[in-house]
Amino acid sequence: MCSHYPEAQVSVRTVCCRKFFDCPACHEASEDHALKKTVDMALICKKCRKAFRKDLRDFDPETDSYCPHCDNHFVFTSAQPAAVAPSAAMQNLDARMIRDNDVDDELLGFAPDLSKKLG
Ligand SMILES: [Zn+2]
Ligand SMILES: [Zn+2]
Ligand SMILES: [Zn+2]
Repeated sequence: MCSHYPEAQVSVRTVCCRKFFDCPACHEASEDHALKKTVDMALICKKCRKAFRKDLRDFDPETDSYCPHCDNHFVFTSAQPAAVAPSAAMQNLDARMIRDNDVDDELLGFAPDLSKKLG
């Protein structure tokens, strides 16, 4: 169970070590090498436990955010870290995290930032 993104509905197989992780932080916690990112993702649905693939170069959030086997909706953006303490000292950090709405495109950091490549 991933403690970073408890809402995660899928596990992602990394191309560097070919293991399944819920999020890049889990990879970092258990591996001592850098995460290798990919646009051709191998995923496992946590609901039906079946594997499927997504090519992020052809990813439509409207239709491709569902498990093809059980229609489990895996919303990467819902996997936000727990609420940040609303203290004044935390506001800079808070703003930085909120601004990080690109997480949907990056699939929690498993994938490279395609927007830069595709312009
Ligand atoms: Zn790895
Ligand atoms: Zn995690
Ligand atoms: Zn499923």
